[in-house]
Amino acid sequence: MSWTLSNSSLKEQDLLNLESIFALGNGYLGVRGNFEEGYGEDGTSIRGTYQNAFHDIVDICYNEKHHAFPETEQKLLNSVDAQTVQLFFGEEDERFSLLSGEILSYERLLHLDDGFSERIIHWKSPLGKEIKLHFRRLVSFVYRELYVIDITINPVNFSGAVKIVSTINGDVTNYVNTHDPRISSSHAKRLQVNQIGFEDEYIYVTAKTLQSKLQTACVSRHSLDGCLKKREISKDEAKINVTMTCSLQTPLHFTKWNVYTDTLRHNGNLLNKAIKLHCSLKNAEFHNLLTLQKQYLRSFWEKADIKISGDHSLQEAIRFNLYQMLQAVGQDSVSSIAAKGLTGEGYGGHYFWDTEIYMLPVFLMTEPKLARQLLLFRYYTLPAARKRAKEMGHSQGALYPWRTICGTECSSYFPSGSAQYHISGDIAFSYIQYYLVTSDFDFMKEYGIELVVETARLWIDVGHYHESKFKIDAVTGPDEYTCIVNNNYYTNAIAKHNLLWAYKLYKLLKEKDWIAFYELSLKLRISDVEADQWKTAGEAMYLPYDETLNINPQDDTFLQKAVWDFSNTPKENYPLLLHYHPLTLYRYQVCKQADTVLAHFLFEGEQDFETIKNSYDYYEKITTHDSSLSSSIFSIMAAKIGYHEKAYHYFIETARLDLDNSHGNTKDGLHLANMGGTWMVILYGFAGLRLKETGLTLQPKIPKQWQELSFRLQYQGRLLEIQIDQTQVRLSLLEGEPLQIKLFNQDVMIEKNKQFSALI
Ligand code: BGC
Repeated sequence: MSWTLSNSSLKEQDLLNLESIFALGNGYLGVRGNFEEGYGEDGTSIRGTYQNAFHDIVDICYNEKHHAFPETEQKLLNSVDAQTVQLFFGEEDERFSLLSGEILSYERLLHLDDGFSERIIHWKSPLGKEIKLHFRRLVSFVYRELYVIDITINPVNFSGAVKIVSTINGDVTNYVNTHDPRISSSHAKRLQVNQIGFEDEYIYVTAKTLQSKLQTACVSRHSLDGCLKKREISKDEAKINVTMTCSLQTPLHFTKWNVYTDTLRHNGNLLNKAIKLHCSLKNAEFHNLLTLQKQYLRSFWEKADIKISGDHSLQEAIRFNLYQMLQAVGQDSVSSIAAKGLTGEGYGGHYFWDTEIYMLPVFLMTEPKLARQLLLFRYYTLPAARKRAKEMGHSQGALYPWRTICGTECSSYFPSGSAQYHISGDIAFSYIQYYLVTSDFDFMKEYGIELVVETARLWIDVGHYHESKFKIDAVTGPDEYTCIVNNNYYTNAIAKHNLLWAYKLYKLLKEKDWIAFYELSLKLRISDVEADQWKTAGEAMYLPYDETLNINPQDDTFLQKAVWDFSNTPKENYPLLLHYHPLTLYRYQVCKQADTVLAHFLFEGEQDFETIKNSYDYYEKITTHDSSLSSSIFSIMAAKIGYHEKAYHYFIETARLDLDNSHGNTKDGLHLANMGGTWMVILYGFAGLRLKETGLTLQPKIPKQWQELSFRLQYQGRLLEIQIDQTQVRLSLLEGEPLQIKLFNQDVMIEKNKQFSALI
C-alpha cells in the first residue's frame, strides 16, 4: 500500500508540476517527467535532463560591482535530450498525442518500490484508430549512466504501418524567468553540439559547454520486438532521428537505451565510454533492469521506510519524499544534492546549507555511506572555501559559499547570500553529527577535524570581544527577510558549537593518535594556544536574550523593529519576496523561515524550556513560512513543546508540499530540503529523538490521528527498529551489539531478539 503514486490529469496547469513530481533520477542523471511525444505545438513544458553538477560558468553582470563580489556563477545545464519518441500510425501518419483524439483511459504511475514510472493509455486517434500504449521509464540506480524508455504498442481496431521516430536533440536551452529571483533570468543557451552521428546501431550527440568546457556524450540504442520494415537516419546540425517503420498487427515492443557520460566523471573518449557501456548491456532486457532496480530499492527501503498506519495520504507523501531524496543524492565526490535535486532548474542547480541541515541527517541514519559522500564533497571544496575567506578579507579560516556547484560562491545578492556565514558552521555541524552517529574517528582524523578547525578559525576572525562577550557582526541568519545584522542568535549558536568542537576534536586527536595529531598540527599550524582561543571564544559566545519577553531575540535589533502588518497583507502578496523590495522586508519583524526556532531545535541545551516555548510563540506569529525550509522545524518544535495539533498540521504542510503544490512553484523542481524535513519531523518531532554525545534519547508521542508509527535507523553500527502507538513504544535491535539509550529520561538497554517495550 502507498508504494505507487498515480495521476491522470492532462490539465495544462498540472502538467508542469507533474513533470517535477514524476521526475526520475539516480543522483547522477535526472530526467523530468516530460512526455516522450511532447504536448503538441502550444503546450508549455520544461523539458529537462540533468547530470548532477554538469554546469556552465556564466558572468554575473553588476552595474556596481564591489570588492569580492563573485564575477561568475555556475549553472546546472539542461543537457542533451534523449526523451523524444514520436509515434505515427497508418498511411495518414497520424501522430500520437495525449492532447489530440480521444483518451479512452489514461493513468500515470510512479512506483516507489520498483523504481520506474509508466503511462498506461488507451487512445483513439482523430481518425478513429484505437491503440493501447504502455510507456515505461527507468533511470538506473545500478548503472548510473543509463536511462531507458520502454514502449509497448498494442493495436485495438487497427492494423497497418507504425512509424517510430526516436530523437536525440542537442539543441537544448535552460528555462529562464525574469520575474522570479529563485530562477535564473538569463543565459538560457549554454550547450553547444560538438558531434552528431551514428555508428552501427548507435546514434549519438556530443556537446560542450560554452565556458566551463565540460563535455558530455549521449548515445542511444534501440531494440525492437516486432517486424521492422525500414530504418532510416536523418540529422541536422543539432538533432539526430532514427525512423523505424514497422507493420503493426500484434503488440510491438520498443526499447530506447540512453547512456550519458561527461568529463566530470569519465576519463578518455566520452563517446567510446558510452558505447562500451551499451555493449556490456546488450544482452540485458528491460525486465532485467527492473529486477536490479527493485533489488536496489529493497535494500534502501529495508533501512529507510517509515510506516504510518491510519493515514494513507501522509504515508504516500513520506515515501514519495524519501524516494525523491534518494533520486537526488550525488554519490561521487563532484556532486551533492541541489535544492531542487535533479527535478528542475530552480536555484540554478546549486547546493546550499539545505544539504547539511535538512538532508544529510536522513542519509546519516539510513545509508551512512551516502552521508559520508556528501561530507567528502565539502571536504574537497575546502581549498575554495579557504580562498573565499581570504577574498572576503579574513586572515584565516574557511568560508563556504552560500550557493555553489563546484565550490566557489555563486551568490550575486550578498545580503541574503554571501552574508549567510552560518553555512560554514552548518557544514562543521554535519561532520560532528556524522561523528556522533557513526563514531568513525578515522574519518574525522582524515577529513573532519581539518574542516571543523578551518571553519572555527573563521569565527575567530569574524567575531570580536565586546564587554567580555564574543560577538559576530554583519551577518545574515537563516531568515532571509532580516539581513545583515549583529549577533544573529542562530549564527552565534552554531559558531559556538563549531568553536567548542574544534577544541574538543583537537584534544581528542592528541589523546587518541599522537602521530596524526602531530601531522595535522604541522599541516594546519595549530598550537595549544590557538586551540584555547577557540574554547574561550566558544564559551564567551554572546547569545542574545530579552528579559522582558523571556525569549531569544533573532539579533541585536530585531525586537526594536515594527511588526509587519499581517492583517493588511493580502493573500496573493505571499511569498512576500515576490511583492516587496527587500529593504521593506528588512525594516520589519517578519520572518521568511525558522531561524531562532531552528537554533532551539539544534541546540536545545542552550536555553531552558520556558525560553524555548516563549520564543516559539513569539516567532510563530511573525513567520510566513515563505521558505519551504520552515514548516518542518515548526512541526518538530511544536511536538517538543507539546503543541500536538500544531505539530501535526505543520507536518501535513511539510509532507505534502510538492504533491499538493502548496508553494505554487513545484514546476521549477521539488523542494528537497523540505523532503528531508519530513523525515526529520518523524524522527525528531514525533519520536522525539536527539543525538547527544552521551547517546540516543527518545521521547515519543505520535499524532492522535495515527494508530502506529514505525521506522528503522542506523546508529553506531546497529540497526534499530522503533514502533510507537498511542499507548506504548517498542524498541528492537535488529543488528549489532546491545545498546543503551535513554527513553523518557530512563536508561534502557536494547538487545537482539529481546524487544523492549514501555508505556507512553
Ligand atoms: C531559503 C534558503 C534556502 C534556499 C534554497 C531559500 O528560499 O530561504 O534557506 O537555502 O531557498 O532552498
